[in-house]
Amino acid sequence: MQIIHHGAVNGVTGSCHQLEVNNYSHNHNNDISSYLIDCGLFQGAETAGQSSAEQLQISFDINNIKALIVTHCHIDHVGRIPYLLAAGFDQPIYATTATAALLPLVIEDALKVGVTRDKKLIQACINRLNKLLVAVDYGQWITLPINLPTATKTASETETTPLTYTKAKLKFKPAGHILGSAYVEIDLTGPKSSHRVVFSGDLGASYAPLLASPKSPYKADTLVIESTYGDKNHQGRKDRSKQLKNIIEKAVKDNGVVLIPAFSIGRTQELLYEFEQIIYRNKHNPMWQNIDIIVDSPMAANFTQKYSQFKKLWDNEAKRKLAQGRHPLDFNQLITIDSHQDHLAVINYLDSVNKPAIIIAASGMCTGGRISNYLARFLSKPTTDILFVGYQARGTTGRDIQTYGPQGGYVYIDDIKIDIKASIHTISGYSAHADQHNLINFVKRMHHKPKHIRIVHGDDEAKQALASAYQALLPMAEIEIGKA
Ligand SMILES: [Zn+2]
Repeated sequence: MQIIHHGAVNGVTGSCHQLEVNNYSHNHNNDISSYLIDCGLFQGAETAGQSSAEQLQISFDINNIKALIVTHCHIDHVGRIPYLLAAGFDQPIYATTATAALLPLVIEDALKVGVTRDKKLIQACINRLNKLLVAVDYGQWITLPINLPTATKTASETETTPLTYTKAKLKFKPAGHILGSAYVEIDLTGPKSSHRVVFSGDLGASYAPLLASPKSPYKADTLVIESTYGDKNHQGRKDRSKQLKNIIEKAVKDNGVVLIPAFSIGRTQELLYEFEQIIYRNKHNPMWQNIDIIVDSPMAANFTQKYSQFKKLWDNEAKRKLAQGRHPLDFNQLITIDSHQDHLAVINYLDSVNKPAIIIAASGMCTGGRISNYLARFLSKPTTDILFVGYQARGTTGRDIQTYGPQGGYVYIDDIKIDIKASIHTISGYSAHADQHNLINFVKRMHHKPKHIRIVHGDDEAKQALASAYQALLPMAEIEIGKA
């Protein structure tokens, strides 16, 4: 068995891992079975030096791939699926029930934004995707297709490959990262041995709004784990909610806009959830009762609907609010912008009035999307506040604003130089990713701890720090940093 990485090793984007089973060098090639875990898009600095064709290419052999397993539908985990299909992939795509409901929307949007406006072409791709998609409930074992050893093998060859696996199965467990997100347990068994591999996908932080935090697996022999915040711990929950409230209260005093770049799936809904809570608690504060909170994204509105549809996946606190008759993802001050025309009109309107507003728009790392038009217009105004609530990958406009903004630097948006006069804020407590403490606990709480840990999906410092922490926890285990 070996694990090959086609992304998310030199950073956090382009997640795509291949689990290769029965891959002995003398094996007949058709004995090998592979499973692909995610097939994501590269973003930011991780695309440097590559042409867009290279970033999207499926540069590996897909012949022995028996299935694609999707951990969750963020674009950096699923964005290359259309290219996988174009390369001829026709095997099942396993995802949790909620992810399977969201995935076609995500892929459709990705195609519209980045590839083609041709409706027929998009529909053809979505139809193929739907045909291959297999929705699986959390906690349910599913048998994976596997190539059985070929009969042509000689006795001596069979003897030297005692670890041949003849069965493979898969189970999704809640990852608490976004709606439908999962970590994946893959069980390999053969006549003489068995092996459990766990792929973490993206793990949620504990006390994230709306979704319950992930519980550790019972066991893992090999663990492939993300390390986005492998070297950091988040602020506590009380702090972040207070911080959000304080930053906004200060920011709106000068009647400027507050721009919050956010992923349409996950982060936007978490923010709505928090705002509903703040508005609920501040019934007598006219500012909170009157402020416009604008979600400028048809995608985000679609996903908010899906979040509402899958209420059974919400955590207990959110369910309690529902039981009290509250609508945790909705409130009177919420305005949703759909058409592009309305989007441009809102920007002009906000620019012309002396009135504060909070705007939530994608992309989450300011690498395009409607937030770019807001930034182009408002970044150079001292009354503007930019609030980052999510991880900004190296080389993204978001990371540049975060880095150079506080010193009054500049950024390029659509090739136009924009001076940053806005105030820049970052609240790390809203991260959708587990912090170092969570990542260590994920392993610590397993009954049967891994003998082998492969660290992926992080910047170098984060991976190193997490590797040291795991080595201290499990001195006998082999801790490795994933390489392409
Ligand atoms: Zn994610």
